[in-house]
Amino acid sequence: MSILVAGGTGYIGSHTCVELIEAGHDVVIADNLSNSKEVVIDKIKHITGLSEDTPRIKFYEADIRDGAALDEIFEKEAIDVVINFAGKKAVGESVECPLDYYENNVGGAVELAKAMARHGVKNIIFSSTATVYGEPDVIPVTEETPIKKIFHPYGQTKAMIEQILQDQYAADPEWNVVLLRYFNPIGAHESGLIGEDPKGIPNNLVPYIAQVAVGKREFLGVFGDDYETYDGTGVRDYIHVVDLAKGHVAALKKLLPKSGVSIYNLGTGKGSSVMDVLRAYEGACGKEIPYRIMPRRAGDIAIYYCDASKALRELGWKAEKTLEDMCADSWKWQSMNPDGYGDV
Ligand code: NAD
Ligand code: UDP
Repeated sequence: MSILVAGGTGYIGSHTCVELIEAGHDVVIADNLSNSKEVVIDKIKHITGLSEDTPRIKFYEADIRDGAALDEIFEKEAIDVVINFAGKKAVGESVECPLDYYENNVGGAVELAKAMARHGVKNIIFSSTATVYGEPDVIPVTEETPIKKIFHPYGQTKAMIEQILQDQYAADPEWNVVLLRYFNPIGAHESGLIGEDPKGIPNNLVPYIAQVAVGKREFLGVFGDDYETYDGTGVRDYIHVVDLAKGHVAALKKLLPKSGVSIYNLGTGKGSSVMDVLRAYEGACGKEIPYRIMPRRAGDIAIYYCDASKALRELGWKAEKTLEDMCADSWKWQSMNPDGYGDV
């Protein structure tokens, strides 16, 4: 199949392109490069053994809010399915600049869906997030867990796009919509050639630890050690980005020929604390990682992990890689590329 991957040069998108190509699909990437680099395309070709001039991966520098640019892509390429990774994702920034988030994420998703409708492409997989569950009453979180109050505009944009796509299906039942709610993606491709390349100070735990390990930051601030968890630090469901990418390939099988709207949690179903991650990373990089206990971060909850059994039942997918694998691959990427993709 030919897959339009919006946001395909980004962290999760690039890993998904590798898995799609390895599963025999062709990819057409549309990305405005607002948070990624074009060099990623060469890395994907290298990992998958494709030649420089292969037709199996194409790149358009395009913004999904630009309907004319999208029309050009749909006219030139015979697209079967769209995967939409394109979006801004920093929670704090979304609180400071909510309009940018609604415009980019929601506005972009609407323009993309309109372009799909204009060209008769009615199959979409959307990158959603566990954040849509808010602060759930019961852990583990299943797909039936009620959507609670969402605390920031980033999460709101994801919940809104989920609703928009479900409304579009209600209006035209020929659509097939898969909503994938990711838990905490970390790690990198085992080649060390692609990985997460955060700008500025990382917001998330593992990219921060990676920068401490490589000597770019002095110590990790552990945000609270007085939660009601087994060691007092926050517990999350970390998932290897390659497992997550494979979840998209599995979702493709569900999408066609006819699936309506489907929702899946993509996580391991297992919680790990901040200290578990720190220790696993120390094991991976072979050095001690300095840390200091800090106050809790506003908005954080104590424990969050999913029940991923629906994805296993219906997609035949489950996460295979361990926390040790995640940290080893993160370290390989970070130590091979201390400055990420650099200034290229
Ligand atoms: P990323 O920033 O690495 O990738 C997103 C890509 O989208 C970037 O390449 C960026 O340049 C592009 N983009 C942004 N706005 C665009 C626009 N208007 N038009 C075209 N391209 C645009 O982020 P990621 O970590 O790979 O996340 C991918 C998706 O998964 C995002 O939608 C994010 O919200 C969602 N998600 C991520 C996480 C996570 O922890 N990384 C967790 C849950 C959900
Ligand atoms: N965390 C931390 N120090 C950091 C970043 C995160 O202690 O510098 C903790 C955070 O409080 C949470 C866990 O690590 O318990 C995961 O945070 P992250 O931001 O990676 O993911 P999310 O909050 O989205 O689950």
